[in-house]
Amino acid sequence: PKVKAKVETNKNKEKNLKVTPRSQDFSKWYLDVIDAAELADYGPVRGTMVIRPYGYAIWEFIQSWLDARFKETGHSNMYFPQLIPYSFIEKEASHVEGFSPELALVTIGGGKELEERLVVRPTSETIVNHMFAQWIQSYRDLPLLINQWANVHRWEMRTRPFVRTLEFLWQEGHTAHTSAEEAEEEALRMIEVYRDFAYTQAAIPVVVGRKSRLETFAGAAITYTIEAMMGDRKALQAGTSHNLGQNFAKAFNTQYSDENNDLQYVWQTSWGMSTRMVGGIIMTHGDDTGLLFPPRVAPIQVVVVPIWKKEEQKAGVMAAAVKTESILKSAGVRVKLDATDQKTPGWKYNFWEMKGVPIRIEIGPRDVAENVVVVARRDVPGKEGKQFGVSMEEGRLLECIETRLEEIQESLLARATAFRDSNIVDVSSYEELKEAIKEGMWARGPWAGSDADEAQVKEETGATIRCFPFDQPQHSNVCFFSGSRASEVAIFAKSY
Ligand code: AMP
Repeated sequence: PKVKAKVETNKNKEKNLKVTPRSQDFSKWYLDVIDAAELADYGPVRGTMVIRPYGYAIWEFIQSWLDARFKETGHSNMYFPQLIPYSFIEKEASHVEGFSPELALVTIGGGKELEERLVVRPTSETIVNHMFAQWIQSYRDLPLLINQWANVHRWEMRTRPFVRTLEFLWQEGHTAHTSAEEAEEEALRMIEVYRDFAYTQAAIPVVVGRKSRLETFAGAAITYTIEAMMGDRKALQAGTSHNLGQNFAKAFNTQYSDENNDLQYVWQTSWGMSTRMVGGIIMTHGDDTGLLFPPRVAPIQVVVVPIWKKEEQKAGVMAAAVKTESILKSAGVRVKLDATDQKTPGWKYNFWEMKGVPIRIEIGPRDVAENVVVVARRDVPGKEGKQFGVSMEEGRLLECIETRLEEIQESLLARATAFRDSNIVDVSSYEELKEAIKEGMWARGPWAGSDADEAQVKEETGATIRCFPFDQPQHSNVCFFSGSRASEVAIFAKSY
């Protein structure tokens, strides 16, 4: 259901600060915070979303971090058209099978029925191969390593802002190589970039692994994934990297001549992370009060709230607030001075807490007299999170803030890791799996079942194989479901 409070009057605006507590109704909380914090709004077409500045700032950070890493690892950005001839999609059998139900088609152009229907890209492997086949001649043209930042459309039935929308923003990497080994290395290198982003920037302790056959990308040989545990313990596939083998190369004749002048098909990869990641950050760290952003991805890292009662106090307090802002700003801290006198300091505290700003600095007349500020941490409640009297002296203030931001970053990752680990259960029978899933946990156990077995588990429990984690714990060699010999454990969970 569409949960949306229209914000017209000031009175409603005040009320709007209160979001449904996360502990009470996770789904409603998620929609409430997105609305109240102005991260996004609903588009007029079902399942579409308008990303507002506060939400877009997070995506911009994700973009800039990933973009730098893609370039470091040898990739160049380029851009392909959004419209793809329908016949392209049909060329790779499993690709068309997987994507058909989600395609948006253009049938009329300029008022006339088109001779060939066009697909609004759901992903670009087909058009990329159409072009690669023309550009790649010899082994000297390889590896070809490109990335595009783009929007894609998938006609999803059940949607949720950021997490699953009809149109979303992402990057898609596409590479072509001379050997299977090189393509495999590339697919692993890029899932590692995603893992690194999740851990070090988003403070999300994702589980990295390989997808099951059923969950593999349509057209890929192998799909690697990072799986994140949300605050309601549902899994979120937060990024994927595919080893495409030669599937698309064969469908599109993407060939090169090798050193002996023999024609060979290229080996390929593709990999993507989307605006879904923003949803992942919200649902990992937020709490009953609202959002809570890890400092590295926070659009605003520090908010400065000046406090005065009498008019004659204002000038001194404002001078100190402006100085604080400028000290932090010039050191590259993303700081916001909230100097409006339309709202009380108490209102501002609540507002910026709900918006997830990691640190608040309060400055009142007494602080000015003592040349200090008060620092409060968003991740530690009430007075506990407050440090009184941090010296305003430039070096001291900056050091204090930078250390605190680091501490918050680390503490959010530690908290999320403890939460994840306490919610993964090792199972050795189907009964144990059912029990674990019923309790909302992730179940991990030795698995060697067939596709049909996996489908049965999904049917009966609602849980899917999230991945075969790279990090394999000690385990028995007996599949908990089929009883046959299992060489690895799989993680099952309900997911978004
Ligand atoms: P895929 O090409 O299907 O592997 O998708 C790459 C990544 O995009 C996935 O791992 C998801 O994190 C994300 N993604 C897939 N579908 C959607 C969607 N409808 N809305 C937002 N993100 C999506």
